[in-house]
Amino acid sequence: MPPDPFFAGAGFDRADHLRGDPAAIAELYGHDEARQLIWLDGAPAVDEQGKLRWQQIEGSPPLFLGLDHGSPRFSALPDGDAPATAYAHFQLLGMLDAAEAPTFAAALSLANWHRRHRHCSVCGQPTEPNRGGWSRACGSCGAEHYPRVDPVVIMLAEHDGRLLLGRQPQYPPGRYSALAGFVEPGESIEAAVARELAEEAGISVRNVRYLTSQPWPFPNSLMIGAWAEASGDSMRIDKNELDDARWFSRDEVVAALDGDPTAPFQPPPRWAIARTLLHLWVDGLK
Ligand SMILES: [Zn+2]
Repeated sequence: MPPDPFFAGAGFDRADHLRGDPAAIAELYGHDEARQLIWLDGAPAVDEQGKLRWQQIEGSPPLFLGLDHGSPRFSALPDGDAPATAYAHFQLLGMLDAAEAPTFAAALSLANWHRRHRHCSVCGQPTEPNRGGWSRACGSCGAEHYPRVDPVVIMLAEHDGRLLLGRQPQYPPGRYSALAGFVEPGESIEAAVARELAEEAGISVRNVRYLTSQPWPFPNSLMIGAWAEASGDSMRIDKNELDDARWFSRDEVVAALDGDPTAPFQPPPRWAIARTLLHLWVDGLK
């Protein structure tokens, strides 16, 4: 079985029915097992076992993350800027326990939205966290704003039994991964997959299929994994987007995933959905 995408999963009971009830939230602050997330360097803190770190409640932390087997979990708004990219937290992600990853993603993505959306987009006045931190309310014009999630397509293009993978300039040496790009307003997933592959690699595709998805908290994305059939293998690489792109055979992808030192490329890390997509492809996209 291919591994589930890192960060994907149910995580805590989000207890939506409690978010709009300030009296219920105030009562949860006093719960014996209520805990508050600890932050370090702009991200949730992780201990040596890869578990998230928690402390006793201090004051009235505005973000209600949910219930962990009935135990209320909160977070304050962290100081400092949101981490710009996953690569800035490479070591942290390498340590993080996969079972903790959904909560890590939810807390970081929600906090990132608060850090980047302090003012009302309608009237420009400051806004305040509302509904346990799952919205922000403007006291000036009455608008309510909800956390944004930005859809990104990430896709495998296949032609004649080979896969197209590319290198972004910031990748470590030897790394190749699936091409990706933001879905634009007014665009379907299928259209975004076709456009991104045409823009970045100059190839045309058909038969786009959805495979799996992953929340990506750098800062607020939803990665939508897809597969598509390329009509040919000649490429025109956009050097502003990619250092390189190449077609790889199944044996080459298997060698890369197996960590074979003779593999022609380094695969994406375990916390990237692209690695799950490669496993799915090797297994026949089941
Ligand atoms: Zn306003």
